[in-house]
Amino acid sequence: MIEKLVTSSLKMGVIAGGQLGKMLIQEASQWDIATHILDPDEACSARSVASVYVKGDFTDFNDVYNFGKQVDILTFELENVNIEALQKLKVEGLKIVPDPDILALIQDKGLQKEFYAKHDLPTSPFICCEEEEITDALERGELVYPFVQKLRKGGYDGRGVSLIHSSKDELLKGTSMCEQKVDIDKEIAVIAARNSADEVRCFPAVEMTFNDKTNLVEEIFCPADITSEQATQAQTLAVKIIRDLDMVGLLAVEFFIDKEGKILINEVAPRPHNSGHHTIDSMVTSQHKQLLRAILDLPLGSTKLTSASVMLNLLGEPGYEGQVYYEGFSECLAIDGVKIHLYGKKNTRPSRKMGHNTVLSKTVEDAFEKANKVKSIIKVKSWEK
Ligand code: ADP
Repeated sequence: MIEKLVTSSLKMGVIAGGQLGKMLIQEASQWDIATHILDPDEACSARSVASVYVKGDFTDFNDVYNFGKQVDILTFELENVNIEALQKLKVEGLKIVPDPDILALIQDKGLQKEFYAKHDLPTSPFICCEEEEITDALERGELVYPFVQKLRKGGYDGRGVSLIHSSKDELLKGTSMCEQKVDIDKEIAVIAARNSADEVRCFPAVEMTFNDKTNLVEEIFCPADITSEQATQAQTLAVKIIRDLDMVGLLAVEFFIDKEGKILINEVAPRPHNSGHHTIDSMVTSQHKQLLRAILDLPLGSTKLTSASVMLNLLGEPGYEGQVYYEGFSECLAIDGVKIHLYGKKNTRPSRKMGHNTVLSKTVEDAFEKANKVKSIIKVKSWEK
């Protein structure tokens, strides 16, 4: 444990400057930590709150390396970071949380699945292969229709993921991981945190609903509508994964619950996660504060729920593109327990994530009632069409 921690003399680097970076920096600023961000976009969300903005590409060796040289501690808010640069910085003594080796494993959906198999962690059957090897694997019976093909690297928000029903469906180009389609009943997530003293804490499970058309998350509610056995099992698995990875930091674990009630690991993310947006408003400790505690070798904070919640993404309305305004903003704020978070994006376009609303109430049912009102009131539009 650090006896004399002077946070105001700390320079924390965050790769990159998206909305999760912005939220992390807002929390870091409560502890007077100076924050540096690396992002190619000069108009990125976190720029307005960061102490120092550095323009650069987080996939570029030199940009990441030079950025790392300016800070005392380095973390990231996305997976797509140049690993070689992180490895060199680590060898040269920079504290990077989570460790680059863990990021390298998680960046690759194939390596992730092999890790679950090796550690006896429940996940759907899979194979890793090139596109042209898929037909052979089907012929040999190693894979059967329907399956889900996922590009091993670079996918997000459902991009790089394709459901293949039959030979009529077109395969994705590139090295991929193919897994059997799960008959999904529910999708849930648990965020675990671990510090260097091996203290581990989990936030309660959330449940996610998805929009059929955009494939984006529609609502995330907490607590999830699952049995207490399932909740315990999901948390136990999240703890086992973070310990098996020997990881310090924050790990978001996404699970499927199939129609028979069985819990399967879908994927993990070693960073703050959309499924934890609500923690800012509905938990004693937010996911970002928890990450800071883990990074700084501090005791982890309470993961106690202070309120039930429903999180709604604020997405650009179809048909609107240009300078953003939020229709119904004040009407929404007249509803008790509505917390609006905007990401600082100047321009909207259809389905662009512009912010989120967390709606708090005593019960999830009640929060949903308010959330449905919020949904019908607030609209992300632009002056131009
Ligand atoms: P991303 O990393 O882009 O979020 P995911 O691997 O989480 O991609 O997949 C996106 C969505 O596709 C999931 O939330 C789920 O709805 C669906 N999906 C992914 N894998 C499977 C599977 N094996 N069976 C059924 N649906 C799946």
